[in-house]
Amino acid sequence: MPRAIVVGSGIGGIATAIRLRAKNYEVLVFESNHYPGGKLHSKMQDGFRFDLGPSLFTMPQYVDELFELHRKNPREHFNYQKKEVICNYFWDDGTRFSAQENQEKFISTAAKTFGESEVTLENYIKKSTEKYNLTASLFLEKSLHKLGTYLSKDTLKAILQLGKLDIYKSLNDTNEATFKSDKMVQLFNRFATYNGSSPYQTPGIMSMIPHLEMHYGTYFPKGGMHEITQSLFRLAQEVGIEFRFEEAVEEILIENGKAVGVKAQDKTYDSDLVVSNMDIYPTFKKLLRKQKQPKKVLQQERSSSALIFYWGISRTFKELDLHNIFFSNDYRSEFEHIFKKKTVYDDPTVYINITSKNEPQDAPEGNENWFVMVNAPGNYGQEWDLLKAECRKNIVKKLSSLLNVDIEQHIISEFTLDPIGIEESTSSYRGALYGAASNSRFAAFLRHPNFSSHIENLYFCGGSVHPGGGIPLCLLSAKIVSDLIPTA
Ligand code: FAD
Repeated sequence: MPRAIVVGSGIGGIATAIRLRAKNYEVLVFESNHYPGGKLHSKMQDGFRFDLGPSLFTMPQYVDELFELHRKNPREHFNYQKKEVICNYFWDDGTRFSAQENQEKFISTAAKTFGESEVTLENYIKKSTEKYNLTASLFLEKSLHKLGTYLSKDTLKAILQLGKLDIYKSLNDTNEATFKSDKMVQLFNRFATYNGSSPYQTPGIMSMIPHLEMHYGTYFPKGGMHEITQSLFRLAQEVGIEFRFEEAVEEILIENGKAVGVKAQDKTYDSDLVVSNMDIYPTFKKLLRKQKQPKKVLQQERSSSALIFYWGISRTFKELDLHNIFFSNDYRSEFEHIFKKKTVYDDPTVYINITSKNEPQDAPEGNENWFVMVNAPGNYGQEWDLLKAECRKNIVKKLSSLLNVDIEQHIISEFTLDPIGIEESTSSYRGALYGAASNSRFAAFLRHPNFSSHIENLYFCGGSVHPGGGIPLCLLSAKIVSDLIPTA
């Protein structure tokens, strides 16, 4: 049986391993941490359970597919619940809005709250769907770097309708041209952060992202986000995939232009192919340092990172649900601080995720587990301890005022994560959450392909390569890699 080596057990790496096993490869996964999952990990502290990374789960069908590939019923191994309320939004002037998954309800309540016409909202959502349908097969589901992709009917259709995609203006300009209300613009601008970009720079085509939430819905996995990678890890073990934890790969071995194995802890392991799930930047700088470097890809601007405060809170809040956003008063300035000044804004948009709303056992009775996140620049050597202390003060002030409670008094357990910590635990260059930013209309084409055009039998998956970051796209990267590899 031919052997495949996967470097890294992030969601993209585990999914690739599961797919290659179904293609009859013997699969060996190297992981530098002592646990699988990469950014999808969790921690217990003082009776509170916290998901450390992702909190929003869309397109669960891509997880189900992995069980089905091995003829297992996903529902016997991994379960999730659709959310009726997608997100609660709060503004400093007291405006509150609860975004419903049901489109009709969303449109009627948004129209009332923001003074927009229902027709404008309907048309915006329709256009979001149209953009997604026109481009998904080209940008998300196939390799952008294979000629065959461009010869399909779908691609021709997308090219003929380029004008409809708003690629020549920013997401903010697209939204400002549509809505009268600044708050409605801000709410739809927020979707740029789903791939770690700025709404003032990312192209208007990104207004397709709301389609994912509004059409496919948002979900909460039973057992928490961590259960996504845990259940896939169990599946991987059941189908015979071997994992080597605390074994960082030091080099991908190349002979005569072909990947032939890896070196880890001074031992060499042969294989017929290698897939790197490590961020593409360190993959080239560390594991492929003797090979030609794809300079343009490596120079791409990185996506935003984050400061996360994990708080055990000694009371409950009726007005909060699983996902909650407290908006900044000056969104443009916030993104200028993140991407241009490379610092944290002093009135940041605060996101609070509370899994104990869905899973009461995630917090002691009468308490809540708060994952409090603000967008931050990547690590460029800033004084993170100072920035964190300042940011914490600003968050406590903002939340105390908007929730009418002295939040500080209720924080009974606490730890934090910053861009340095994200880079240390996952090798994500500069602590980027989503690989490269999508702050230009060429970003999709500048992401590294899922294969090497110089080295045979070398492939790449995960959030730093095509089609991009976030759980669904990482799962799609695994699918694209596996489609490029013949069944053994
Ligand atoms: P990663 O998770 O980056 O893992 C890579 C793995 O490779 C790690 O385990 C690392 O230890 C291992 N590794 C690296 N180098 C080596 C080596 N040399 N040898 C062996 N192993 C190695 N996405 C969403 O969809 N929804 C969200 O709500 C969301 N929120 C986020 C919030 C935060 C705070 C963060 C950090 C990310 C968030 N994301 C979200 C993004 C999402 O987490 C990532 O896009 C995705 O998890 C990346 O998966 P990956 O396959 O690229 O691997």
